[in-house]
Amino acid sequence: MKVLVINCGSSSLKYQLIDSDSEQVLAKGLCERIGIDGRLTYQKAGGEKEVTDEAMPTHKEAIQLVLSALTNSKTGALEDLSGIDAVGHRIVHGGEKFSSSAIVTDDMIKEVEECSSLAPLHNPANLIGIRACQELMPGVPMVGVFDTAFHQTMPKKAYLYGLPRDYYTKQGIRKYGFHGTSHSFVSKETAKFLGLDLNHSKIIVAHLGNGASICAVKDGKSVDTSMGMTPLSGLVMGTRSGDIDPSIVQFISRNEGLDVDGVMDVLNKKSGVFGLSDGLSSDFRDLESAAGEGNEAAAEALDVFAYRVASIIGEYIAVLDGVDAIAFTAGIGENDGLVRANVMNYFHYMGIEIDPEKNQLRGENVKISTDDSKVAVCVIPTNEELMICRETVALVK
Ligand code: ADP
Repeated sequence: MKVLVINCGSSSLKYQLIDSDSEQVLAKGLCERIGIDGRLTYQKAGGEKEVTDEAMPTHKEAIQLVLSALTNSKTGALEDLSGIDAVGHRIVHGGEKFSSSAIVTDDMIKEVEECSSLAPLHNPANLIGIRACQELMPGVPMVGVFDTAFHQTMPKKAYLYGLPRDYYTKQGIRKYGFHGTSHSFVSKETAKFLGLDLNHSKIIVAHLGNGASICAVKDGKSVDTSMGMTPLSGLVMGTRSGDIDPSIVQFISRNEGLDVDGVMDVLNKKSGVFGLSDGLSSDFRDLESAAGEGNEAAAEALDVFAYRVASIIGEYIAVLDGVDAIAFTAGIGENDGLVRANVMNYFHYMGIEIDPEKNQLRGENVKISTDDSKVAVCVIPTNEELMICRETVALVK
C-alpha cells in the first residue's frame, strides 16, 4: 500500500509518502508559512530537494500543492492520486478517549474535537489537515495516530496529580504524556535489536529533541512518562522549563508584571537550555561549542540538562524495579554522544559502562554500552512517520 503520512501544525505541514510493503519513503517534504505566504519543499526518493514559494492561504491549498507535487509528470512519485491507498494523520491529543489509533469517521472527529481543550494549539490544526484531505481525497481511508495513546496504559498512581479529585473527574486534569508514537516505535525496535522478548522486558526510552521526554516501558506498555497534561512538564528542554515549583508562576507574574498567559509564554518559549544559557541558543551544537570556548552559562545549561535526564532515568529504574535496556533517540539522543556520555556517567554504580568509540557512531541502531555493561544502552533512531504508516495499514487493511 502507498500511505500518505501527514503531520499538520498550526502554520506548517510535514508529509511523507511511504510504500508500506518495502517501508521505503517515496517522497517527502514540508509546507511552511501556511496562512502567511507559503513555501513548499518536495523531495522524491533519490531526487533533488525542490523548494518553491507558493501561496498557501489555508491548509487546504497546502495539501493541494503537496498532491500536485506528488503527481507532477516529471518529478512526481505517483501517476495520479488513485495511487494513494490511505492517509495517516498525526494527532497530538486523544485524551482518555483514544488508547490506540482510530479510523477517521464523523464520530471520531467529534471525539477529537472534544479533546481540543486539552491541546488548543495542536488538535484544531490536526483536524484542519484531516478535513482538507477528506475534501481533496474523498473515499480514501484515513487513520488518526495519537501522541498520547501509547501512554493510556499508565496506572492511576502514575497519572493522577495531587490535586482536588474532581479536577480529574470533571475536567480531565491528569498526566497524559506525549511522543507516544516515538516511545512505542523505539521500545519495540530496541527489543528487536537486542533480541529481548518485548512482553517480558523493562526498557527506558529517552526521546531527547527540542521537545524531550522519557518513558518507562514494561512488557511493551508505557507505565510512566515525564511529560504531563501538556508537553511543558518533565525534562528541561530546548526552550521549555520542564518541571518547576508551581508557585514560581505566581512569583514571576508579580515580579515581572505578567499575566498567566505571559508567564506561560516564558515557560514555553524562553526557558529550558535557551533560557539557562542567557538566550544563547536552544541548539545543543551551539551550546557545546560555546561551552568549549569557556561560556559558563552554556556549560551549566548542559549540566542541568544531563542531570535532569539522569534523575528521571533513575526514577524510572525504581518504577520498573530494574532495567534491561536504555535507548536514546531524537535529535539530541541520536546525534549527541557527549550528552549520552554525561547522562550515563551517573549510572556507574549500576555497572553501566559506555564504549567511547561506539558512542561516536550515528544514523543506525547501535549498542553503545560495553559487552560487560550490566544494562544495554543503545541509540535507536526514531521514525514516527513509519510508525504512523504501520498503524494506518493495520487499521485499513
Ligand atoms: P523536535 O522534533 O522536537 O523539533 P529534534 O528531534 O529534531 O526536535 O531535535 C532537534 C535538536 O536536536 C536540535 O535543537 C539540536 O539541539 C539537536 N541536534 C540535532 N543535531 C545535532 C547534532 N549533530 N549534535 C548535537 N545536537 C544535535
